[in-house]
This record gives sequence, C-alpha cells and structure tokens, in this order.
Amino acid sequence: MSSTYEVINPATERIVKAVELADLAVADKVIQRANKAFASWRQVAPGDRAKLLRAFAQVVFDHREELAKLEVLNAGHTIANALWEADNVANVLNYYSAAPERLFGKQIPVPNGVDITFKEPLGVVGVIVPWNFPMPIAGWGFAPALAAGNTVVLKPAEYTPMTAMRLGELALKAGIPEGVFNVVVGKGSIVGNRFVTNPLVRKIVFTGSTTVGKQIMAGCADQIKRVTLELGGKSANIIFADSDIEAAAAAAPGAVFDNAGQDCCARSRVLVEKSVFDKFMSAFEMAVKKFRVEDPSLATAQMGPLISKKQLDSVQSYLTEEVAFTGGAPTGAGFWMAPTVLMPKKTTAKVWQEEIFGPVVSVMAFEDEADAIAKANDSDFGLSGSIWTNNSSKALRVARAVESGNLSVNSNSSVRYWTPFGGYKQSGLGRELGPDALDSFTEVKNVFIATDK
Ligand code: NAD
Repeated sequence: MSSTYEVINPATERIVKAVELADLAVADKVIQRANKAFASWRQVAPGDRAKLLRAFAQVVFDHREELAKLEVLNAGHTIANALWEADNVANVLNYYSAAPERLFGKQIPVPNGVDITFKEPLGVVGVIVPWNFPMPIAGWGFAPALAAGNTVVLKPAEYTPMTAMRLGELALKAGIPEGVFNVVVGKGSIVGNRFVTNPLVRKIVFTGSTTVGKQIMAGCADQIKRVTLELGGKSANIIFADSDIEAAAAAAPGAVFDNAGQDCCARSRVLVEKSVFDKFMSAFEMAVKKFRVEDPSLATAQMGPLISKKQLDSVQSYLTEEVAFTGGAPTGAGFWMAPTVLMPKKTTAKVWQEEIFGPVVSVMAFEDEADAIAKANDSDFGLSGSIWTNNSSKALRVARAVESGNLSVNSNSSVRYWTPFGGYKQSGLGRELGPDALDSFTEVKNVFIATDK
C-alpha cells in the first residue's frame, strides 16, 4: 500500500507538499520499466546518446533558477549554493555527454588471432541519494550511468524528493526516452532496499551514512551486485605555522559550516600548529562571528537551517565539550543552530571521532608534521581534507601521508566534476566523477577472433 510524506521547509517548518511514497509493487514496476528501456537505450547510436545528454544538460540549465528555488524550499540550502548545485547537474551531464563517443575498448596483441575489448553497459543502475545534496549527488550517479548506456532508477531521500522529481520531468522534456531515467520516491527500507534485492538492478550507487552503506554492501553480496559507496567523513583541516594564517582562518568557517555542516567533506576537525594556535583562534573567531546564518533565500546567506528537528537534536546532543565560541543564528520557527566551535581535550572524544553532520567543528593543537599526520589519520574515515602551508614540499609530503581520497592545499575545495571523488577507509568504495567513473558503469568484455585458417 502506498503512503504519503509531508515535505517540510526546514527554514519555516511549514508544509511544502505531500508526496506519494512508492511501495514494493510500484518499485518493482519502475525497475521493470527501466529494464525494458535498457534494450533500446543501449542501442542508441553513440552520437545520438551524446546529443540527448547535451539536450538534458541544456534543459536543466534553462531551469536552474526553478530548481534552485525548489532546493531552498525543500532542503534549506542557500540560494547561492542551490544555483551552483543545479549548474553542477548540467555540467556533469555535459561532461559525460562526451563519453558515449569515447567509450574505447582495446586491441590487445595475441597469437593466432585478434583480441578486442568492449565496455558494455550493466543494465539497470539504482542510484540512492541522501538529503544533504539532492541534486549533485543524483547527477554524479545518473549522468555517467546513462552515458555508458545503462538505464537508471533513482531514489531521492525521503526529506528531499522535490528536485529529483523535477529532474525526472526535465529528462522527458529533453527527449530522453520513457523508462530510461526513472525517479521513484519512497522509503529507504522499502524502495532503496528493493533496488538491492531485485535482480534486475545490476548496480547500486549509494551515497549516505556509513551504517546504511554497510547494510547495502552486505545485501549486494547476495547477487554479487556491483556497488559504489560514498559514505561519511571527518575531514581534517591542517594549518601549519608557515601558512597564511589569516587566509586559513577566513576560509575555515565555510569549510565546515557550508550547508550547515551537513556535508560529507566538512572539515570538522581543525588541526593547528601549536606555535600559531592563539593567532589562528582569534582570526577564526572573528570569521565565525561574521558567518551569515539567515533566511536561505537571501543572496547574502552563507548558511541556512538544518534539514530536520531530528537532525538538530542529534547535532545538539554532541555539545558536551568545552565551547570555545559560537556564531549567530535566527530564532523562532525553523531548525536553526549557531555555528559552534569546540575544543576537545583528547582525540578519543566523541566529537573528534564521530561524524556530527551539523555546524560543529572541533579544534586541536599539534606539535609537528608527524603529529599532524598521526592525528589526521586517527579516524575511521578518509574522505577529504586540507593542508595549509607555504612550503610546497611539505604540502606534497603531507598530502601523500594523509589517508584520504580528496585533499586540497591552501584551499578547501573538494569537488570538481572532472576529477575523481571518493573515500578511503569507511568513507566509501570506488570513485565518482572524472574520467574513470565510467569504468564503474561498464563491464569489460574480451572477444578473441581466430584468424588462423
Ligand atoms: P542515510 O544513509 O540514512 O540515507 C541515504 C539514502 O539511503 C536515503 O535515500 C535513504 O532513504 C536510503 N536508505 C536508508 N536505508 C536504506 C536501506 N536499508 N536500503 C536502501 N536504501 C536505504 O543517510 P542520510 O542521513 O540521508 O545522509 C547523510 C549521510 O550521507 C552522512 O553520513 C554523510 O556523510 C553521507 N554523505 C556522504 C557523501 C559522500 O560522497 N561520501 C555525500 C553526501 C552524504
């Protein structure tokens, strides 16, 4: 039996819309539709598939403001971020629109014949998306999947279905054939889990919590189903004494409080070299106090509300350590929280080890390069991180030593759609984006043709 879910605007707590949640039977029907469409989509000539993806990108771009406003309403994202997110979907579609014509195999020298490899699509790909970045994370899964000739069933998170539903309509408007790109709104435990158990789904792309990621990986084992996992993070922002301390401090709030800290790449552990700790903290305090937490539809907003009351309660339950200082936040309706800076005493502290997924950052001093690396690596996660230093040899040495998939030097940016993204350790499995992501949406087929008489 299907049910409905009331989507709430997290900035006002008002109901935005009631959406219907798919049940098992609906999920199966959509998977079957995607499977049927696969037979013809994989046969679309590479140049035509490329044109369709470019058309999809253009339609997304033409609707960027509408999509962005929907995300502000549904997820409380700042309008500036939401515009970037809509553009990111269009950019990722454009980037992978170049792929169908370039999915090269190899010709491998062998005796007595010719050997060639093909990159074949997998079939139906299930994309399971979390609520923190509904648009980009969806696009990172469906764009390369479609480009490689797969069809897609996409499940947005319960809290944030609005932009995914609209992207499903825009795909049809762009001419993507019926059944090729399908959005199914439903619960993770029902629809998401059905993607894992239905044998017609050949691959899962999952982004979300490490706990659910582990369940999905275990579930996929049953059918040796392909799986890519993008999970949690607890990234370190390492600030050496020889860096531009003012620049590092000015950038540090954005690196963790962007999207209200609900970002798997949030630099939620700041490590500062002891000799400049006080200098950094006073510049950081000024920057945090200036960080604008306000109505996310305002162009000046740097942070909006958290996604839900549940998330707010969960984040606040971590406020057990000494608070160094906080920024400001609106009061009244909405799931608001002020950016908060903590100073835990030990690396074993819960706030230092667990992903809080909210606007909370912990700061700690380190002695030297070896201590910084040891402290950064003292984590089950390894998604991203930053290194601030003016010594380029040290920057490279530390970047090579930190066990993490995405590092930036003198910058906090983690995501570029043309470079690989993913995690070490319990932050994930496989890589998204960049040129190599296509490999995780194809099987390599080897064909030998005898030429001997
Ligand atoms: P979540 O794991 O609860 O849910 C993610 C998605 O999985 C949702 O669509 C949900 O409905 C679905 N789901 C839940 N249970 C399921 C099940 N049993 N089977 C199949 N699907 C199921 O995570 P969330 O709370 O929505 O998102 C926050 C988490 O996502 C954070 O831990 C964050 O770090 C992580 N995240 C990681 C990345 C990354 O790229 N590494 C990016 C964004 C978010």
